[in-house]
Amino acid sequence: VKVDNPYAGVPGYVNPEWKAKANAESGGSRISSNPTAVWLDRIAAINGTPNSSSNGAFGVRDHLDEALRQGAGYIQFVIYNLPGRDCAALASNGELGPDELPRYKSDYIDPIAAIQGDAKYRNLRIINIIEIDSLPNLVTNTSGQAGGTAMCDTVKANGAYVNGVGYALAKLGSLGNVYNYIDAAHHGWIGWDTNFGPTADLLKTAAGASGSTVNNVTGFIVNTANYSALREPYVKITDTVGGQSVRQAKWIDWNFYVDELSFAQAFRTKLVSVGFNSNIGMLIDTSRNGWGGSARPTGPGATTSVDTYVNGGRIDRRIHAGNWCNQSGAGIGERPRANPESGIDAYVWVKPPGESDGSSELIDNEEGKGFDRMCDPTYGGNPRNGNSATGALPNAPISGAWFSAQFQELMRNAYPAL
Ligand code: BGC
Repeated sequence: VKVDNPYAGVPGYVNPEWKAKANAESGGSRISSNPTAVWLDRIAAINGTPNSSSNGAFGVRDHLDEALRQGAGYIQFVIYNLPGRDCAALASNGELGPDELPRYKSDYIDPIAAIQGDAKYRNLRIINIIEIDSLPNLVTNTSGQAGGTAMCDTVKANGAYVNGVGYALAKLGSLGNVYNYIDAAHHGWIGWDTNFGPTADLLKTAAGASGSTVNNVTGFIVNTANYSALREPYVKITDTVGGQSVRQAKWIDWNFYVDELSFAQAFRTKLVSVGFNSNIGMLIDTSRNGWGGSARPTGPGATTSVDTYVNGGRIDRRIHAGNWCNQSGAGIGERPRANPESGIDAYVWVKPPGESDGSSELIDNEEGKGFDRMCDPTYGGNPRNGNSATGALPNAPISGAWFSAQFQELMRNAYPAL
């Protein structure tokens, strides 16, 4: 029998490979004992990838054995290898082409399930974070939309994402001590009514695909590897300035949410209303959404206009809420913990702080990683970020590789401070 909240009451697994990188940084030992997720970002990662930029020699079995040795109660893996992965961006394109669903099942999900199902690990709560950004991209980034791409059209039409996610849920969810959380983007992506309901519906479709049911879903995660603030203390969506709703401000742009906590709680309610179990819980990735440091506002903005009010008071200092790559000014957020708020199973660190989101210029590599100009600080943007500057840090390595300058800035701007 599965517990309601696998994070509750037990210590999390500390990935020694991430911990070693963090400890090698000056000041890194202040945060290196926090649990972070292990990203299975390619088939080879199942057995360990000593030559990849992101992970190290540990495979799934090594991590699980080490978790037992640590006496951990839960361990977090990211299932991240769909056919045609990252269809609206280039920085985290993967190894499987859009038609390789059979290989995703047989060479990726099946071997992971075989290891996670080993009776040796039956007392560990094994948590899988399922396929970041995938289903939301099918809602917002297909043709007819401003940011539509051909790859998103392809994987929508051939069912690769929906059937791949369904297969992962069914296979992994059938194991008695395994818990699945599906990625549900963040407020700055699906917080508008045009995206909110359709995303919930598509998540429901995927949870019923390839023989799965909603019972294979423990919950959902928001803000994975993103920078949206947990709370905006000085901007409420119901605020008005001179009789005008702050929803009209350029930053909010008619969104119904200003932060991740309010979004996660509302989206949980929506997901239950479309048919998910009423005991689902949400996770919020708080690894890089702290926004502390000297640039953090200490009170509301000037009431000259909705824009001065929102821009002066928001703690999320990004240029545009659609910016996602190595954001300048970001900080470490809340430390991982269970049951922080109603409806929230845990604050988690899924994106390991210090690992790049993508290279700021083209870097040749044999890991399938493309160059996305959203990681280039000189780029003027695209329709997905309102054609704004990217706010990305310069001199970044390819996605997953260690980015020391970012790690140092994240620690400097931590909130709560370290
Ligand atoms: C990369 C992965 C990496 C993960 C965690 C993703 O953007 O594509 O290779 O493991 O980030 O850093």
